Amino acid sequence: MKNTCLKITSLASRITAGLSLMSIMLASPPAVAQTGKHEALLLHAARVFDGHRMRTNTSIQIMNGKVAQIGPRGSFAPGNAKVVDLGDATILPGFIELHAHLSFQRVPADTVLKHGITTIRDVGGPVHKPYGGNGALRVLTSGPIITAPGGYPIPLTGEKNIAIPVSTEKEARETVRNLIDAGAVVIKIALEPGGEPGAPWSGGHVHGHHHDNHVAAHGHAHQEPPNHEPSSHEPRGDKPAKPAHSSHPHPNTPDTGSNPAWPLLPESIVKAIVNEAHANKRRVTAHIAETKGAEIAINAGVDEWAHIPCDIISEPLLKKAVSQGVKIVTTLDTLSKCPGVAHNARVWREKGGELLYGAEIAHPDVPRGIDAQELMFMMQMGNMETLEVLRAATSKAGEHLGLPLLGTLQAGAPADLIAVRGDPTHNLKNLEYPNLVISGGEIVLNDFPIISQPRATAGDR
Ligand SMILES: [Zn+2]
Repeated sequence: MKNTCLKITSLASRITAGLSLMSIMLASPPAVAQTGKHEALLLHAARVFDGHRMRTNTSIQIMNGKVAQIGPRGSFAPGNAKVVDLGDATILPGFIELHAHLSFQRVPADTVLKHGITTIRDVGGPVHKPYGGNGALRVLTSGPIITAPGGYPIPLTGEKNIAIPVSTEKEARETVRNLIDAGAVVIKIALEPGGEPGAPWSGGHVHGHHHDNHVAAHGHAHQEPPNHEPSSHEPRGDKPAKPAHSSHPHPNTPDTGSNPAWPLLPESIVKAIVNEAHANKRRVTAHIAETKGAEIAINAGVDEWAHIPCDIISEPLLKKAVSQGVKIVTTLDTLSKCPGVAHNARVWREKGGELLYGAEIAHPDVPRGIDAQELMFMMQMGNMETLEVLRAATSKAGEHLGLPLLGTLQAGAPADLIAVRGDPTHNLKNLEYPNLVISGGEIVLNDFPIISQPRATAGDR
């Protein structure tokens, strides 16, 4: 391990770094909108998935950034709204991605938005207050991952903007409070000893993208794909990019196999983190991949697992987590080489556990937008119906975030929606290339003709 000498950096400076990155991100030009925010927009389509069920002959009126009305096509009085008749198309809520590393990996937010994700939760990266949702990607963050000194992901990524090591319960509680003050919507911890066969983080590789003070051997989620386009967020005057590293996520030279296990946070510290987060109305999500981490998380009352564990977890342990109301974010696409994920997903669902959609945007294996393969893995491994996986990426995710209207198209919901031609339940892949994307009532992308509705006159229609 190269990063044995831990840098001592105050949380305050991390947060300042995070906030300055946020101001850079906010300074980037907003998505071009084709309608004004206060202008009414009426959408007709053959099908609407409203976050809960598929409806036909249903239209949606949007006003002031929100869904004003949803109902049968004939129930809308002609008015001044601009009209888009999508014909044989399906409107859905914008998808919610619960496991991303957008800022840390500098994934362009607009790319993600144009590919159907209107809300992401960044779980491992700089901390920010929530922003976006107004023609720009809505971004919620956990901030850096709380871990043991030298614990995952530090051996792979270093600490900067991605990890905060804590050694005592007091330090853990302070860290939780500071993250929440800085805008964290959830607290992320790591319980990862390393070495699970098939896990991306078990085979590190030299990583050369970040212009930070580290070149990390680095496998989990923190790789750039070969055709990385610099985002508009990258500061100018950077040093020239270092030579491109291997884009292969599973190199032949694992760096953890012969090394001792990475240190784990002890149960007492995890309990302190959970208690402090709950006292401040936040949940705790844990990176877990094997039995030891699962046991600590269950005993400490962790609310969410940020991945389906890579190793097989015993039925009694999974059952116990289900009984505690734990939710799991899937990330099956990036973990499909793990021996335990199919077992864990199947047993989890058999025991009544809930799976939520997350594909780990920024990972080189997954698209920078909706990941249809993730949805298909959820169906196959979790034995879920098509509409169940769509709910897991929309209404169920909104509820989980404590934003119950987000991910639905009910009246009052944020007007975050997408549309695709045809019926995506027959071809989930089409969801990766939406024909219409609206964020907070602002049109971000639209392939359909907009008709300016003439003012209704007596005898019309
Ligand atoms: Zn991750």
